[in-house]
Amino acid sequence: MLLRQGHVGGAVGQRSSGAIARPSLFGPAVVAAVALLLTHPRILVRCRPCTDRERNRRLRRPTARPAGTPSSWTSVAPASGTGRSAGYRHGMPELPEVESVRRQLAPELSGRRVVDVWWDAHPHARLSDLDLLVGRRLEAVRRRGKFLLCPLDPGPDGDELELVLHLGMTGSFRFVPAPTGDGGISHVRVRAVLDDGRALLFRDPRRFGRASVVPAGDYGRVVPTLATLGPEPLSEAFDAETFAAALARSRAPVKARLLDQRLVAGVGNIYADEALWLARIHPASRRVGRSRAHELHAAIRTVLTAAIEREGTTFRDYQMVNGESGRNAEFLEAYGQADRPCSRCGTPLVRSMVAQRGTTSCPRCQRH
Ligand SMILES: [Zn+2]
Repeated sequence: MLLRQGHVGGAVGQRSSGAIARPSLFGPAVVAAVALLLTHPRILVRCRPCTDRERNRRLRRPTARPAGTPSSWTSVAPASGTGRSAGYRHGMPELPEVESVRRQLAPELSGRRVVDVWWDAHPHARLSDLDLLVGRRLEAVRRRGKFLLCPLDPGPDGDELELVLHLGMTGSFRFVPAPTGDGGISHVRVRAVLDDGRALLFRDPRRFGRASVVPAGDYGRVVPTLATLGPEPLSEAFDAETFAAALARSRAPVKARLLDQRLVAGVGNIYADEALWLARIHPASRRVGRSRAHELHAAIRTVLTAAIEREGTTFRDYQMVNGESGRNAEFLEAYGQADRPCSRCGTPLVRSMVAQRGTTSCPRCQRH
């Protein structure tokens, strides 16, 4: 609460100072507006990247560390101020990007014990119960859809817990030597010190990522999306006939069904556009027959498998754990390719909105 008031108070002060300096121009309405903002600060607060200055001011305050956990890290090395700008060019991480991250994290984290943890206490940070990591060993790094799941070794009471991670739009991981704090890296939201002398940093400028410790397999309360996730697209559980039957029952645009996560896990805007282009199905199509559904089923697997092999698509603000980006961007056929000729028929690709998402498709060879 203290932190929220501090954060919001700055914004209100900036907005209100000019108005108060010229009361004769605005009168009681401004006073009433300022009073409203002071009593309802969330009107002004939207999830947006904070500047390094804001972050440092906030991090120097006492964090919301539960009592009884090991030593707190209230002194944080100043951020370099040269971090990458927030925002993204190629969308948010999807299954291939998350799988690439998993493959790099797994050998580094599996078997490591967490000896201390710090996390951002900002009210919009989707971080919870991370104090439960302290003293626990991360047994593996698994993936479910776009989530990373790290089972923890059983505690003294035999309770089974899992660390759930989601990259959101801009999340990434870095390892730094523990004594260097955040190593000059900006927008660090979680820092977990490991028993090998390194710290794992979760960097997330836009704060849409998640890190939560939950009872193993019990996701409904904290991450309901994970609780209702459909089958893994590259597993046998993703059955073509079941997929076709589900599409046949639906009259929603096919792209909306793909993004929904309940029909199939891990497909987002990039790979929905790519799979629909490959299957020659228009993203807004509301009737997908059995044979076309089978083609789409195969196309989803094809585009995801290829993207995993290329370690995902390049993001301006997304970095893999080793600081590199994926190579899939140069292979995109539809996503982000509006006005370029379709590589199949030469017709310029068009951009439209489907399921409230920017969508690129070929008006000639992708049919309703
Ligand atoms: Zn075409």
